[in-house]
Amino acid sequence: MKIDAKSDLFRKLPSVGELLRAPELATFVAEEGPTAVADAARIVVARLREEIGAGRVNSGSIDLALQGIPQAIERQLRQELSYSLRSVINATGVILHTNLGRAPLGAAALDHIQETAGSYSNLEFDVAAGDRGKRDVHLERLFQKLLDREASGSRGVSTIVVNNNAAAVLLALNTLAEGGEVIVSRGELVEIGGSFRIPDVMSKSGAALREVGTTNRTRLSDYEAAINDRTRLLLRVHRSNFEITGFTEQPALEELVQLARKRGLPLMEDLGSGALFDLHTIGIQGEPGVLDSLRQGVDAVTYSGDKLLGGPQAGMLSGRTDLIQRMRSNSLFRALRVDKLTYAALEATLLSYVKRDYAAIPVFRMMSMLKEDIGARAEAIAGKVKTSAISVDVVDGESVIGGGAVPSAVLPTRLLALTMEGRSADEIATRLRGGDPPIIARVEEGRVLLDLRTVFPEQDDCIVTALQALAG
Ligand SMILES: *Cc1c(COP(=O)(O)O)cnc(C)c1O
Repeated sequence: MKIDAKSDLFRKLPSVGELLRAPELATFVAEEGPTAVADAARIVVARLREEIGAGRVNSGSIDLALQGIPQAIERQLRQELSYSLRSVINATGVILHTNLGRAPLGAAALDHIQETAGSYSNLEFDVAAGDRGKRDVHLERLFQKLLDREASGSRGVSTIVVNNNAAAVLLALNTLAEGGEVIVSRGELVEIGGSFRIPDVMSKSGAALREVGTTNRTRLSDYEAAINDRTRLLLRVHRSNFEITGFTEQPALEELVQLARKRGLPLMEDLGSGALFDLHTIGIQGEPGVLDSLRQGVDAVTYSGDKLLGGPQAGMLSGRTDLIQRMRSNSLFRALRVDKLTYAALEATLLSYVKRDYAAIPVFRMMSMLKEDIGARAEAIAGKVKTSAISVDVVDGESVIGGGAVPSAVLPTRLLALTMEGRSADEIATRLRGGDPPIIARVEEGRVLLDLRTVFPEQDDCIVTALQALAG
């Protein structure tokens, strides 16, 4: 009986051919073409069939459901033909939010991408000589200015760029240690967000991991005792996203440098973040900079382009010219190389460093933003939300740098704290994410918190509009 009723309903469903001839859909068919409309119609009808099968559409609601088919096709088409990757407002206060794309690019980087990627470029062409060139030359002169002159005098520092820091570590380990052993402290066998794990990368590189010390204490003598004929490299990994405190010990970098020199082995450091400016100047301690490591005599360092450097996703390998030259000759380098968009964005970002125009780099601007200025913007927004349906307070809080950089460094900030009668914090956060553009907030202790440190000032009006819409 019930089955029969359902099969009657199934028979009422229009065929895709009928829908394509339906007058309500004629404009869509003309605008988007019959194939796109037929695809969308197939999905909508299949969905309706499922609803009938599950009993969610029955003889009482079938007519309404049938009438809604043209609109459902329109919605389906609109969704299919819109972008999936889109801009969001980051109100979390996490400056390097890996899920939200890490560092936003500065205006110069965007201009440079636009100018070079929309036309042909001299990516691998030496314009003066009229001959084939190399893509690295565009960045080489900037890295030389930033690192070489200041870093290590006579040794000479070179840099190559690959797809991300994970790729840089892989390339370095494969080049320097394939078939041999790499010594790493047990306290540094880290996993970084997005499943970058030192032991896994090591095994893919063809090098064997030689763990030394314990989770909390590793001494210089542990490294020394582990060195043997198969040892190719000493590796130091920045802990990035966690800290070990309490009963701990780790040799100083200079001790490791001395040991490596004495035994004729290279020492590499995976820095992770790789700041190119002095973080102390904005009150952030404990994050090693690229120059600090090179000056102390580390032979090669790897770091990301889209963390504290504030540029595009990329992985840099900077170090002794002879070692970097070997990495450049490795066929893996060709597989891991970056495209012209990345070169353009990175060149513009590095040029800002060379000009010491740090304010041109968005993550730097965000890190150096003062609590008072953030508070003033928050008060201005709160003052514009004129409705009693939503309560907007401005309270003290903390922003974090994120992205596996300086885990303990927090930046004092002022937050917008939202609550609504009869609506949970999670519901409010969901509504904010459902807006256009979506606003991503933090939920803590029953409140929704918005940190304007990571919101661009020109987006403040969007926040006002969204808060008003919430109340409405
Ligand atoms: C972030 C990080 C990585 C991974 O860098 P990606 O650029 O995301 O590939 C590797 N090592 C350390 C220490 C890091 O902090």
